[in-house]
Amino acid sequence: MNQSTYAQLKKWPYPVNYGKENEISTDVLIIGGGIAGCHAAISSFKKGATVAVAEKGAVLRSGAGGDGVDHWHLACTNPCSKITPTEMMDVLKNTWGEWGYGEFGNGIAAYICAKESYDAMLDIEKWGVKVRDVDNLFVGAPFRDEKTKLMFAYDYDNNFTVRVQAGNVKPAMLKEMKRLGIKIFDRIIITGLLTEDGKPANSIFLKPKPLLYLHPGPTASGCSRRSTKAPPLSRNQTSPRKVSLPCGMPA
Ligand SMILES: Cc1cc2nc3c(=O)[nH]c(=O)nc-3n(C[C@H](O)[C@H](O)[C@H](O)COP(=O)(O)OP(=O)(O)OC[C@H]3O[C@@H](n4cnc5c(N)ncnc54)[C@H](O)[C@@H]3O)c2cc1C
Repeated sequence: MNQSTYAQLKKWPYPVNYGKENEISTDVLIIGGGIAGCHAAISSFKKGATVAVAEKGAVLRSGAGGDGVDHWHLACTNPCSKITPTEMMDVLKNTWGEWGYGEFGNGIAAYICAKESYDAMLDIEKWGVKVRDVDNLFVGAPFRDEKTKLMFAYDYDNNFTVRVQAGNVKPAMLKEMKRLGIKIFDRIIITGLLTEDGKPANSIFLKPKPLLYLHPGPTASGCSRRSTKAPPLSRNQTSPRKVSLPCGMPA
């Protein structure tokens, strides 16, 4: 590049703040603004906490859910589900074993997920994500419930996995966080800010008290339809039924 071309380059348009320090005080600090972090931030805020989110990328599209999701797991409390959260625990246990619970982590996390996943889905619907066939594109399809317009995946008999059109889930969550006034710090690798003797710290201490917040978020994507052992029958059932779960299951 010669001198004259160099001189024509535009000035860097953003402020450069090397060495600038920001001090913030917050009840809850969310490290990582993926789908789970954003949902935890909003839920904490709604419980009365002040909340800050530090994200190493940009919350708008960061994390595994940046491109969106197309199905919502373990929505066992939706009005069309024929599996209760308690029955779902047996399905997961039969599939992955007592202590495994596969992609759902562990028994406690799986149970919370089965109990609250549908409510979490209703949250994202409020924030502008399509979770029903509101445009009536799939009227009459075997996976669609005509009354609620909910659509289901994998198991059209028990209806606990909902098909969603959630390509915009991260932008919708970001919009909601901004609306609530949650502080968002993009492009901060917050763990890298913690040092001991000038080196990255091995352990992290947050003062005064770290608050652990568990919220059911979506889990890893499923890809094939396979059957599991049947859960116990509910009161109004007369014959054993088959339950189908997404991938990650033993063959
Ligand atoms: C293509 C694809 C399709 C999928 N489809 C579905 C689906 O249909 N249904 C479904 O249930 N699941 C689906 N999944 C899985 C789902 O997207 C993930 O399980 C979910 O997004 C995980 O969210 P998370 O917030 O737990 O973690 P992540 O998305 O991993 O979020 C963690 C965040 O933390 C940030 N971070 C990490 N370290 C630091 C640090 N030190 N400082 C600051 N920030 C940090 C990361 O940048 C990231 O934004 C899909 C995944 C992919 C990739």
